[in-house]
Order: sequence, then C-alpha cells, then structure tokens
Amino acid sequence: MSSPNYVGRRNKLAKALKEAGVDSILVSGVSNVRYLTGFTGDSTWLFLSKTDTILISDSRYTTQLKNECGELKVDIRDAKRPMSVAVADVVKKSKARNVGFESDHLTVAQHQNLSEKIETATLVPTSGLTERLREIKDSWELEQIKEAVRLAERGIAVVRSSLRPNQTERDVRYTLEAAMRSFGATGPGFEPIVGVGPTAALPHAHAGDLLVSDSPVLLVDWGAETRSGYRSDLTRVFFTGKITKQMETVYRTVLKAHQAAIAAIKPGVECRVVDGIARKIIADAGFDKYFGHGLGHGFGLDIHESVRMSPISEQVFETGMVVTVEPGIYLPGKFGVRIEDDILVTNDGHEVLSSVPREFDDAVVEFLA
Ligand code: ZN
Ligand code: ZN
Repeated sequence: MSSPNYVGRRNKLAKALKEAGVDSILVSGVSNVRYLTGFTGDSTWLFLSKTDTILISDSRYTTQLKNECGELKVDIRDAKRPMSVAVADVVKKSKARNVGFESDHLTVAQHQNLSEKIETATLVPTSGLTERLREIKDSWELEQIKEAVRLAERGIAVVRSSLRPNQTERDVRYTLEAAMRSFGATGPGFEPIVGVGPTAALPHAHAGDLLVSDSPVLLVDWGAETRSGYRSDLTRVFFTGKITKQMETVYRTVLKAHQAAIAAIKPGVECRVVDGIARKIIADAGFDKYFGHGLGHGFGLDIHESVRMSPISEQVFETGMVVTVEPGIYLPGKFGVRIEDDILVTNDGHEVLSSVPREFDDAVVEFLA
C-alpha cells in the first residue's frame, strides 16, 4: 500500500459507531482528524454519519483543506460563526439523532457550548473509538514508522561519533535534533531527553547544563518525526567514563528485562503479562523500588498512543500493533538506565524495528583524542 486509506479508516469508524450506540460522531482530536482525513492543520473537526463526511473548519484553512483532502465536503465558518453554531448546523442538516463526541478531546466549555447550540440531537460521550483503530497500523503506517526509526538511528549515530566530554546536555540535544532534521525529519518526535548522571535518574528530565564529563552515565531518549507525522521512540545509555560495578549491574538487569519482555510479545498475549516479565527480573535483582513507570506504550501519529503495557493494562497484543519496550532503573541523585526499542507485533511473534546496538559493550563510548 503506497498511500493511506482514509476511506477504509472512516468505514471502520462508521462500523464502530453502531457498537457505541450513536448514529454519528464529532471527531475533535487533532491526530484523530488527521488519521481519518489526512488534514494536517488544527481547529478542524470531522462530522461523520452514515450519509455525511464533513470537515468543519475556518477560512485560515480553506486552501490547505482543498490540497490535503479535496474530496471531502467542508463547512468553512467565518469569525462571526463560532464552532458550536457551525456544528449545530451540520448536525441539523444530517438529521442525526445521537451525536457521539470524543470525551478525551473536548473541553468542558466546548461541550457546554455544543449542548446549548445543538437542538436536534443528543450529545453522547464516547472514548477511544478512533484510538482503538489507530492501535493497529496498516502497511503504509508501518513504512512511515520504519522511516521514523531510521531517521532516529542516523541521528544518534552522529551524536555518538561527535560526543565530547565538554558538551552540555543541551548541546547534545541540539546536535541530535539538527542531525535528524538534516536527514529529512520534520523535527524530533518529542523533546529529546538528554540526561547526565542524576538527570538520567529522572525518567522525564529536560536537557540542561550538566556536562557529559560530570558523570560516566549519559541517557538519551529520542525519536524523529517524519513528514507524514509518524514518530519513533528510542532510549540508549552511553557510558562515557569510569563504570562502577553498580552501573554495570543496573545496565545488565535492565537489558535482561528488556530482552525477556520483547521475547514474550506475540498476538494473544496480555500486555500486563509482558510488563510483569520485565518487572519480575528487575525486582529479583533488588531494584523493584526503582522502576515505577509502565513497560511501554503504543505510538504513531502521537508519541503516546493506545496500547499501554503496565501492571493494570487490560489490553491484549494483536498483529499490527507497534509498541515501545522500555524498562528502566532510576537511582535518585545518582544515575538511571533505560533501554527502549520499537516493536511490531507480527502474525507469529514480533519484529524489533530498531537496531541501535544495545549490548553492554556497545554502550561504552571512547572519545576521540
Ligand atoms: Zn522514549
Ligand atoms: Zn517511550
């Protein structure tokens, strides 16, 4: 498949509407609108019913809508006609009786405005209908994600080969972002985490002013975004100085948990079981207190998407899901290690999409003289 099948996606959503007990839906989540129509702007909602597919937008986007989804009907509102009024008009014309809205993507104020303006139908909350479709990537999406992984891999290769003791976390971040852009990424998939020593012990740290030479441990959590909007998400730790026994133990434990979890991924397996495999290895090594987050998550158009691997997840792996596996051990004030790769669930198991070396010896960086 060389182009995204928006019609097929909307047909699947239309089927899901029945099960959700509504005859139409108002899609307001930006990434959901993009997934269903290809439109890359914002402030634009999609109304979908058995008979109608209409994008409700404003005049800033007239040309862009024509270019990106010219086959779709659009209702362009002007500054005097608020979104709630435009939606009410569209709903009235459609003769819909029950309009689902995305409770995860509508503010309380927006909901109130809609309730006041829509007189011909009832608003019904829905959750995760499009997100559920987005869990399973089609072949075009997989091409995009693989490209995002390649861009990230090329970016980190530049960082690694140009790493210097006197670089700050920020310097490393900028080098990485510039490299990924130079290879064709529209930008990083999210703000890269670049953490030295104690910063690496914070699972969601921002790159700051610590020097690479301030600690032997450097953690980089990064990804690229493609022109089509798809992302990758990887983490590697580099040892840039004298490695302590504890650092090696922590790294090898995280790697063992990472490898065992990946090995267990296949269709039909519960996400929480895979999370538990990694968690047990880390606990058996005595570090259970230091691994607080879930094992991994889906990603695609957004960096965190449905499919969550955690002890409370009720999801089951299906062919076509793409998830991260990212166990970590964080010793406050000292250092942290996380190893993260991107995994595709295949018919008979899984495929690791990322190939940045991850063995202990691979993590050791020698500076050029
Ligand atoms: Zn990450
Ligand atoms: Zn992640």
